[in-house]
Amino acid sequence: MIYEVLKAGDPVLKKISAPVEKIDRRIRRLLDDMHATMLLYNGIGLAAPQIGKNIRAVVIELDEKRYDLINPKILKREGKVIDTEGCLSVPDLFGEVERSEKVEVEFLDRYGKHRKIWTEGLLARCVQHELDHLDGQLFIDIAQSVHRGEEK
Ligand code: ZN
Repeated sequence: MIYEVLKAGDPVLKKISAPVEKIDRRIRRLLDDMHATMLLYNGIGLAAPQIGKNIRAVVIELDEKRYDLINPKILKREGKVIDTEGCLSVPDLFGEVERSEKVEVEFLDRYGKHRKIWTEGLLARCVQHELDHLDGQLFIDIAQSVHRGEEK
């Protein structure tokens, strides 16, 4: 099913989300629905709070590779880079956000397998953006500047 994406101002987006306790068919169905919702709205990442569920689950799809991140946690960071970000929960606004250039993230995959990957570039930015959602933070809360449209 396709979910409605909550918009900035909704209190659900400001909450700290709870860890996923059990990885089963229900959570896999939710991840699939999040993925379908994300693709429909042309996003590259979506966090569960954005569809009204305060649990620590994220989907990302970049370069035709899909990532399902359950209970993700950043272990290491390297470098700093500023770039433009947008968000399905903040329509029409873009911002310049400083992020770590590379991050190592550990998580459980959709079958509960423990995984650890190094990410960089847009994937690293996306991971950091989505993990912020799990802690109730939007990019507009930390952006150096915010503007309408993708051009600065
Ligand atoms: Zn977002």
